[in-house]
Amino acid sequence: MSNFLKKLLDRALFYDRWTCNACGDEIFSGYFCSRCQEKIKYIGENSCSHCGRVTPYPINFCDSCIEKNVFFDRALSVFDYQPPISDLIQNFKYKNKRYLATYFTEELYLLCKAKNLDFDIITFVPMHEERQKERGYNQAEILANKLSLKLGVSVCNCIKKIKLTERQATLSLNERLKNLSSSFKVDKGVVKDKKVLLVDDVLTTGATAETLSKLLKKAGAKKVTVLTVASVSRYKGEEI
Ligand SMILES: [Zn+2]
Ligand SMILES: [Zn+2]
Repeated sequence: MSNFLKKLLDRALFYDRWTCNACGDEIFSGYFCSRCQEKIKYIGENSCSHCGRVTPYPINFCDSCIEKNVFFDRALSVFDYQPPISDLIQNFKYKNKRYLATYFTEELYLLCKAKNLDFDIITFVPMHEERQKERGYNQAEILANKLSLKLGVSVCNCIKKIKLTERQATLSLNERLKNLSSSFKVDKGVVKDKKVLLVDDVLTTGATAETLSKLLKKAGAKKVTVLTVASVSRYKGEEI
């Protein structure tokens, strides 16, 4: 029998076989094959206790946190942003693989429980209406909604992106923050005196998380915790 026919027959008879979400190899349970599972880097003790990024050893305030104003009380991520997780997040975000939200939310949920995170409401980094129409969904909103269901904490759509921000690579950090700040609007009534959990997919420069935390605090939020699936370490590529 030709390989092609064999594969076709295989598909027809065992159509519910699973494949690894990272490499596509056949698996029998879970989300990844053992090889890919081994490559996944969970963030552990060696991280910054303020921004949650991977550091060479446990640090209270890493270089990245010292350099700028800090508005969130704490940020935490499940994974260090590198393959295969980074590929999965890209697929989740840009290739309509929304089913990956189930896996990511399970991990976010476990982190919330393990760290005993304390909050009254969940919110998420919004997308501009036009962008969301183009993409069809906001990945951060999907994560927030799923997490809300698992934790029994309500999710509120209290931040709006009112201005489209183009890539800002040519601007200085301060200009970028100013630009970002005026592109969001926070509903004051909802967050007043609340402990807020702000959900997003990745913490990269942290500029968005900082800006939104500042606005949430200005609107009266008592505490802001940022929770993302992964964060980009400044120590990437160096010996850890
Ligand atoms: Zn694999
Ligand atoms: Zn830090």
